[in-house]
Amino acid sequence: MKEWINVLKAADTAAKWHMNQRRKGANQEPYVNHLIEVATMVATASEGRDPNLVIAALLHDAIEDQKIPREVIAAEFGEDVASLVMEVTDDKALPKPERKRLQVETAHKKTPRAKVLKLADKISNMNSVALSPPEHWSVERRLEYVAWSRSVVTALGDDVDASLLEEFSRAANRAELAAR
Ligand code: ZN
Repeated sequence: MKEWINVLKAADTAAKWHMNQRRKGANQEPYVNHLIEVATMVATASEGRDPNLVIAALLHDAIEDQKIPREVIAAEFGEDVASLVMEVTDDKALPKPERKRLQVETAHKKTPRAKVLKLADKISNMNSVALSPPEHWSVERRLEYVAWSRSVVTALGDDVDASLLEEFSRAANRAELAAR
């Protein structure tokens, strides 16, 4: 099994799909940095035993941000990867406050693997808010974002990776300190 080839293919594909996308922070990091950070966290948490979860991490924002059809992901990387990506994809047709509310409300229903991915995504977002928040964000907005992220993570429940949970709470604390 050459799973690592598929993981690299997914990284290559993600770099192309998100080529013109930047993080919203002042540093304007290439978006692929976020995808690789999240993929590295899930690979570490799953001790390299779940290549499909790593692939899903690399592609987790492709539908939401680049409007890549689910079918394209399923055809290239299989149904398992496509359904993991769907589990962490917000419905952009809904207004933002509704999407944020739904993330909290639906968190506990996700599969354990999607929870790992969700948690890693939130850690990466906390790191960004601590190190390079969007320039126009006020202190209140940053604190509000951290508080909302905490409520999503709490809503995931207890059956999540303990070391990722700890990492999230450290990252959230740092983001709050940096805002003040
Ligand atoms: Zn993300």
